[in-house]
Amino acid sequence: MQQGRDELAPAFFERREERLALARHLERNGIRDRRVLAAMAKVPRHAFVPAAYAARAYEDGALPLAAGQTISQPFVVASMTELARLSSTDRCLEIGTGSGYQAAILAEICDSVFSIEYVPELCALGERNLRALGYGPDRVHLRCGDGTRGWPEEAPWDAILVTAAPPEVPIPLLEQLALGGRLVIPVGALEGPQQLEVWERVGEGLRAEAFRRQEHYGVRFVPLVSSAAPS
Ligand code: SAH
Repeated sequence: MQQGRDELAPAFFERREERLALARHLERNGIRDRRVLAAMAKVPRHAFVPAAYAARAYEDGALPLAAGQTISQPFVVASMTELARLSSTDRCLEIGTGSGYQAAILAEICDSVFSIEYVPELCALGERNLRALGYGPDRVHLRCGDGTRGWPEEAPWDAILVTAAPPEVPIPLLEQLALGGRLVIPVGALEGPQQLEVWERVGEGLRAEAFRRQEHYGVRFVPLVSSAAPS
C-alpha cells in the first residue's frame, strides 16, 4: 500500500535532485523497468547509509555498513530488483536486510515484503531505518535469523532476493519458490569469482528440470553465512 504524500517522512523530500540523477544514470546503464527506476528515484538512500558516508549516498557505489557488511551498489540493487520481475501482488523475500535499503525498494513495488538478517546489530539497524521512514510491520516483515533456511512458514515465494553470496544455492530457498517464482542470488566463493544467477521454478520438486537457471554478470558480495554444519 502506498503512503499519501503528507505521511512521507522528511527524508523523502531531501536530496531529490541527486536521486533523480541517480535514476537517470541507472537508466543509461540499462535498467529499463519503470517501477524499479521510480523506486530508486523515491527511496532516500541517504537515510540508510551511515552518517559518515551520507555525502556519497547517491554515488553508484557500495558503502560500508556496521559489522563489516556493505550496502550494495545502487546499480546492483536496481538490477537484482529488475531481474526478479516483480508484480505488486508478489510475495517477496529478501535474505540479508542490512541497512534495509533493498527491502524499501522492494516495498515500493510489492505489497508484501519479508526480510531476514543474521547479525543482531544489523537486525536492529534495518528495523530502525525502515520504521523511521514509514515502512511499517504491515509492509516489511522482519526476522532476525539464518536466511539460508528461508522463511518456510510464509512460503511459497514469488521472488527471493539474496544480498550476500553463498558458495552454492541453499536448497531451502529453491524448495520455497512458488511455480513461476524467481530466485535472484550471487553465487561463488568469497575470494573467487561470483556470478549473479536467476533460478526460475518451472516444475515441481527439486530435480534439475524443475528450474530454469540463467547466469548474468560477475559481482562481489559479502559471504552468506550459514549456521548449518558444513557437509
Ligand atoms: N540488502 C542490504 C545489504 C546487505 S549486505 C542493504 O540493502 O543494505 C548482506 C547482508 O547479509 C549483511 O547484512 C549480512 O549480515 C547478511 N547475511 C549474511 N548471511 C546471512 C544469513 N545467513 N541470513 C541472513 N542474513 C545474512
